[in-house]
Amino acid sequence: ISNTQLMFERDNIHDDILKAGLETAHEQVVFLAKMVNDLSTLSRAERGVADASEIIDVKELIEGLHKEYSPEAEKKGLHFNLDSKGILGTVSASRLYLHELLQNFITNSIKYTKEGSVTLHVAVLEEAVVFTVKDTGIGISKSDQVKVFNKFYRSEDYRTRETGGTGLGLYVATKLAKKLGCQISLESRLNHGSSFSFSLPVTKK
Ligand code: ATP
Ligand code: MG
Repeated sequence: ISNTQLMFERDNIHDDILKAGLETAHEQVVFLAKMVNDLSTLSRAERGVADASEIIDVKELIEGLHKEYSPEAEKKGLHFNLDSKGILGTVSASRLYLHELLQNFITNSIKYTKEGSVTLHVAVLEEAVVFTVKDTGIGISKSDQVKVFNKFYRSEDYRTRETGGTGLGLYVATKLAKKLGCQISLESRLNHGSSFSFSLPVTKK
């Protein structure tokens, strides 16, 4: 920003250069805002401030997320599908943690998919609601699959590096899953896509 301010004071600077300077500054601000947000979620989870469970209507939750992230997916030319059938019932969980967890998977899937689709699949299997976020994206190599949940880890894959990110998202996701009493499972094939899922007990059908 201070560079751009300096350029502003000169008369012979082309608008395009100023615009590029502002765009870079904006990207960095968004990057920092996201990092602060992740760190604050982490800290809230560690302090247990949002631990309290409430009864959450699963259908309402996933429809809300679908509506929230459809524009972002569409902007990239991706289909964002909501795939759920029948009665999904309710779960008892911290709304903040559950929302953040799904949001982390959805934003990653949108970010790491160049073409095809992102699907939020939710189904009741026996006494559990299984949430799955699946994409047709760049995928994660076998050796990276164990590392992606580490703090600040980002894959070396150049396609990952084309996008910005702090590498905190999945680390936060692991903490949130632990708080919710569930485990994240990851299935992925490099160049074919990834699928992140977890399940919570149904409280009512
Ligand atoms: P941010 O902190 O902004 O979320 P990030 O997306 O790089 O940054 P994580 O969400 O923790 O960080 O993901 C860690 C790494 O795992 C990513 O850098 C990427 O390499 C890989 N990854 C995560 N989700 C996917 C996905 N759906 N498809 C392919 N790679 C993924
Ligand atoms: Mg991420």
